[in-house]
Formats: sequence, structure tokens, C-alpha cells
Amino acid sequence: MGSAISPQQLLRIAVIGTGPGGLSSAIALSELPNVDLRIYEKAGELKNLGAGISINLNGWKVLELLGIRGRVNGASTNPTVQRNAYTGEIVDPGVPHDPSDAYEARRVKRLVLQEALADKAPGHLIEFNKKLVGLEDLGKAGVRVSFEDGAERIVDLVVGADGIRSVVRQHMAPDYPLEYAYQIGWRCLVPAERLKDIPDLPLINTSWWYGKAKSLWLSPVDADLSNLTDIEFTARVFNEPPVPGETVSWGRRVSNAKVFSRFSDCDPRLIEVFNRVSEGNWTEFAAYAGPSMDSLTGWDKLVLVGDSSHPSAGGFGSGSAFAMADSWTLARAIEYARANATSDSIPSVVAEALRIFDTIRKPYYKAMADFRKSQAAVLKEVGRKDYADFDGDLRKRFGSDGLGAKRGKGFLAFVYQNDIGQTWKEFVECDQARWKTHD
Ligand SMILES: Cc1cc2nc3c(=O)[nH]c(=O)nc-3n(C[C@H](O)[C@H](O)[C@H](O)COP(=O)(O)OP(=O)(O)OC[C@H]3O[C@@H](n4cnc5c(N)ncnc54)[C@H](O)[C@@H]3O)c2cc1C
Repeated sequence: MGSAISPQQLLRIAVIGTGPGGLSSAIALSELPNVDLRIYEKAGELKNLGAGISINLNGWKVLELLGIRGRVNGASTNPTVQRNAYTGEIVDPGVPHDPSDAYEARRVKRLVLQEALADKAPGHLIEFNKKLVGLEDLGKAGVRVSFEDGAERIVDLVVGADGIRSVVRQHMAPDYPLEYAYQIGWRCLVPAERLKDIPDLPLINTSWWYGKAKSLWLSPVDADLSNLTDIEFTARVFNEPPVPGETVSWGRRVSNAKVFSRFSDCDPRLIEVFNRVSEGNWTEFAAYAGPSMDSLTGWDKLVLVGDSSHPSAGGFGSGSAFAMADSWTLARAIEYARANATSDSIPSVVAEALRIFDTIRKPYYKAMADFRKSQAAVLKEVGRKDYADFDGDLRKRFGSDGLGAKRGKGFLAFVYQNDIGQTWKEFVECDQARWKTHD
């Protein structure tokens, strides 16, 4: 291995976006020495879109690495009870809650996560009302970053944490096919007080209620189940044809009538929950997806973190954890590339860091895309509207013969049980061993 580069050289980094990906990048990258970092956000302030968020072991581990695990907590999602949305009958009782498991999946208020990230992020480095509109590859001189207000900056590295419709990705891979996934989700939080008197409505357990081509989700989001503040209520429809001028909606407020129109045939308890949502509370998310990318980096100067690199229609319900793991890995890759650099050229350090990042994160997203492909038939089935025996089919799908048997720690372990700290350790061990054989 060669000598480290001169510590005087500042690595100029522009992070685009202040979602979980942008804020976690801001935290992880600001802790590196000799970095000139700025974070740019097109909105006028930090956003709080959505209602709840699931955090599994992969999320807890990266929150530990970012130093904010203690700031984030929520309700265990065990047991998650699966029900028939029309009759309310339980088709699967779920896996019991395990209080001894510090890494158990929990449902957390999205605002809690966003605030924990925002409080730790270097706020003075964030510039709002800065919409990225252009990137130009300047070769060894870096990248010219252009904003809608006419401002420009030249940096060595651009971190595209700008979400599913990423402008950074559009520059890296202009032909990337982002497609509407024929699904729409509506989400809101309902004050628990408003729901407590609905007879026989389970509030302290997470519950999925499945209908034909649609599903509903009710979940506590508070760690203290004896003092519930809000209940998360999510409604999803499948096989929804695109509506020109409408379908791209992401985080738009929609009327109660629009959401309820799809669920008026459901269990009376659910109807009562719909009745108690305040007008203006529902937020709409149309799901978009695309194939796995050949590379998560471009020009040896651009890197995608979070949703920008793996649009997957919200299919894994763990996108925030993926974004945070990307950010943490990127910081480690830069640190490692700098420490082991054979020249003091910033462009070659950045190129090497991005190579390391791609080596670690690309196979992860490729495996997720492969899983999604393998599930295409199942998803199509979920979207059917013409079941002869809906309840029987549901039991087959979620009961002990179906997903019910697979749930628990083994299910999609490569996603939910992924410990990014361990992955990094294994990368370093492997790389050091490779260097030793070269010496
Ligand atoms: C219905 C639904 C349910 C979900 N459930 C879960 C869950 O249970 N658990 C979980 O972990 N995740 C969940 N997710 C996914 C999670 O919300 C995303 O994966 C996560 O927000 C991705 O973070 P991000 O920072 O990559 O992108 P985003 O959160 O989309 O942030 C992108 C940021 O970039 C900014 N931006 C965009 N373009 C520009 C530009 N040109 N210039 C400057 N700024 C720009 C945006 O304003 C935004 O602030 C869910 C998502 C949906 C829609």
C-alpha cells in the first residue's frame, strides 16, 4: 500500500437532497477530515412526508453507526396479524413479540427518524431552495453543479440523494426506464384518542387487512403502548391503471372521498376508522420502479444513495435503512480510499472510493431487483379482482403454508438482517488479504 495523500487537500462534495439519504450522508461525510461539504435541497425546508416507517435490524444497525439509535424508537411490529379486509377474520396471527430482541422490527413515526437525522446533521451546511438542474463533467477539474436559481459550484463528488426521480441519475443514466408500478398507497396518522372507542378494533398490534387488489394497514408507532399518540393508517390499491396527469403524484394531499371510494365494502371497523380521519390528512404515493442499475456511480464523480439508485415501488418497506446504509458505506469508502491512496490526486481517490462503494452496494440492490422479478407473478395475483374463493386463497397465501411460515428472522434475511458494519468489516478484511498477497 502507498502513502496517504496530503491532508491539506479538501475533497469538495455536494449532496443533493435532504431525505433520509441526504441527511445521513450529511452526518457521515461531515465526520470525515478535510472535506468541504454542502447539502442542497430544492424545497424551502425539511420535509416530513409519510406517516410511519418500519425499522428492522438493518436499520437499527446503521442508526447505531450514525450515532442516533437512542433517538429513534417505536412499536414492535410483532405480532403482525393478517386479516381478511371484508370479514375481519384472522388468517395468520403472526410471530410473537420478543422483548429481549434489541433489533426487533419496529414501526416508528417517520417524523421521529427525520428529526433524529436532522438534529445530528450539520444544519449550517444545508442550503434550501436550491434545485439541481444540471451537471457537467469537467474531467480532472471535477463536476459543475448548476441550480435553478442560476448558482453554480464545482465539486469533486456529487452525492445524488435526490430520490426516485433523481436528476443526478438522469445525468448518469439518461435512458433509465422508471415505470409506474400500477400501485397507489395513501397514508395518514390518526390520533389514537379518536379510535379508542371503536369496538373490537385492535390498536396495540400491527394488522394487515387484505381485500381484492387492495390492502389496509393499521399500526401503533409509539414505543409505549400504554400511551398511544397516533395510529398509522395506510391504504393501498393494486392494478391501478395510470391516470394521465395524475399518476405521478408523490406526497400530494387527497380527499377522504377519493381514498374511501375504494374501501367502502370493507369490515365495519375499518369503515369507522375511515370516518375518523380528518379531511386533508391523506397523502398519496404512486409507486414507481425500475431495473437494477449497471453501476450506482458515474463519471468517477457521481454516486447515487437511497431511492435514486433502486426504484422499487416501496416493495421492501425499508428504503430509509437502505439510504442510510449507502451513506455510511460511502463515508467509509472515501476514508479507506484516502488512507490507502497511492497518489495525492483527489480525482483518483474519488474514483477508487466509488469503485469500493459500487462493489459493496450494487450486488445488494441487484439481489433485491432479482427478488422483485421472482415475485412478479405473486404481485399480479395480489392485484386480481376475480377470486372464486378469496378467503381460502388468502389463507393459502398468508397462513402456515404460505408467507406465514416464512415470516420471522429468516424471511428476506439478506435485506432485513443485513448488518452494514459487518459487511464493511468483511470488505476490509478481504481487501487487506488481497494487498498482503501482492506485497
Ligand atoms: C408508501 C411508502 C411507504 C414506505 N414505507 C417505508 C418503510 O416502512 N420503511 C422505510 O424504511 N422506508 C419506507 N418507504 C421508503 C422511504 O420513504 C424512502 O426509501 C426514503 O424516503 C428514501 O430516502 P431518500 O433520501 O433516498 O429520498 P427522499 O426521501 O425521496 O428524499 C429526496 C430529497 O431530495 C430532494 N430533491 C429531489 N430532487 C431534487 C433536486 N433536483 N434538487 C434538490 N433537491 C432535490 C427532495 O425534495 C427530497 O427532500 C416508504 C415509501 C413510501 C412511498
